[in-house]
Amino acid sequence: MAGSFLWRGLPAAFVCIAIHECVLASARAWSGCFSPGVTSGCHTMRGAFHLFSFKGIAVSMQPFFLVLIVVLTIGLGDLMSSLIFAACAIIGLLVHEFGHALVARRYGLNPDIVLTAFGGVTRFALSPNARQGFRITLAGPLSGLALAGVSYGAFLLVQMTMGAGFLPAHPPLNTFFRFMIWVNLVWSIFNLIPVMPMDGGKLMAGILAKFLKPARAARAGGVVSIVFSVLLLLYALYSGSMFMIVITGYLLMLNVGMLREIFSSPDRKRDAQKNLQAERIYERGLVAARGHRWEELELLGHQMKQAAVSPDQLGRAYEFLTIACTNLYKYEEALGYARRAPQTDAVKQAAARSERMLNR
Ligand SMILES: [Zn+2]
Repeated sequence: MAGSFLWRGLPAAFVCIAIHECVLASARAWSGCFSPGVTSGCHTMRGAFHLFSFKGIAVSMQPFFLVLIVVLTIGLGDLMSSLIFAACAIIGLLVHEFGHALVARRYGLNPDIVLTAFGGVTRFALSPNARQGFRITLAGPLSGLALAGVSYGAFLLVQMTMGAGFLPAHPPLNTFFRFMIWVNLVWSIFNLIPVMPMDGGKLMAGILAKFLKPARAARAGGVVSIVFSVLLLLYALYSGSMFMIVITGYLLMLNVGMLREIFSSPDRKRDAQKNLQAERIYERGLVAARGHRWEELELLGHQMKQAAVSPDQLGRAYEFLTIACTNLYKYEEALGYARRAPQTDAVKQAAARSERMLNR
C-alpha cells in the first residue's frame, strides 16, 4: 500500500493543497510586476467560522474544507489510515500557514488564516512589500520542512528509547510518524516548484524581480512557470491519477492565461500610446488643412502613417497625403496615396484634380 499511496495519492493531495491560494490569488498573482506577495484582503470570508486563535492569529474554516479532507483521504485503505492522514494533513497545513502568518505578524500586517476547499490561505489586513512578501512566502515551506525534520527526529528518538520493535507493534503510531514525515516533506518540496501561484512560483518571481527589469522578469517567470506546469501535467498523466490530472491541467491553463496577459499587456500599452499620438497628429492635420498649410499637412500625414495603429487611422493618413501632395503639385505621388485612402469627397476631388493636371 505504501508504494502506490506515495506515488499516486500523495502527490495529488499535495498539488491540491499546494495550490491553496490558487483561486483567491490568481487574479492578483502576477500583478504589481511580480511582487511575491501573499494573498491579502479584507478580514471577512463568506461562510467561514472561527475555530481558534494562536498568538493573536485567528484561524477560521469554511465547511468545504471538510469536503477537501474527505476527498484527500478517500481510497487510502482502512479507516485508521484515513483518519491519521487527515490529522497529519491538517497539522501540516496549519504549520505551513502559521509559518506565513507568524512572519507577517512580525511585520505588523495583522494576518489571519482561513481553511478553504483549496487548503489554507493566509491573509493580511495590509499588503506586504516585496522584501516582506518574499520572507513571508518562504516561511511556509520552511516550516513544513522543519516539521518533517522534527517528526523524523521524534521517530528516531522513539525507536532508540523504546526499541526497534515498539513502532511496528503500534501500527497507528507508526503510520502517524511516517505520514508526518512524508506529508510535510513532499508537500513542502511540491510547494517550492516554481509554478504560479504556488509558493515556489512567488519566490521565483521575487528573485527574478531582483535581477531583471519588471517586464522582463514577468516574461521570464511566466515561461518558467509554464515549463514546470507542463512537467507537472506530464507527471500527472504518468501517475494516472484523474484528480491530479484535473488539478495540474487547471494549473497549466491558469499559467497560459497569465502568460498571454503578460505578453500582450506591454504591446497594448504601446498601442494605446501610439493611438493617442495618431489622434493628436490628426487634429493638427485638420487645422493645417483648414489653414491651407500643405507642407505641414504632408509632414503630419507621414507622421500619422507611422503612428497609426488601426486601418482607419492609416486611411486618414493617406487622405492627408493625397490632399497635401495634390496642392503641392506632386500629382503622381498624390494619385498613389489616393488609391490607399478612403474614397471620401475630398480624396475624390484631389485625385480628379491630380489626374486632370497630369493629362494636360
Ligand atoms: Zn504557502
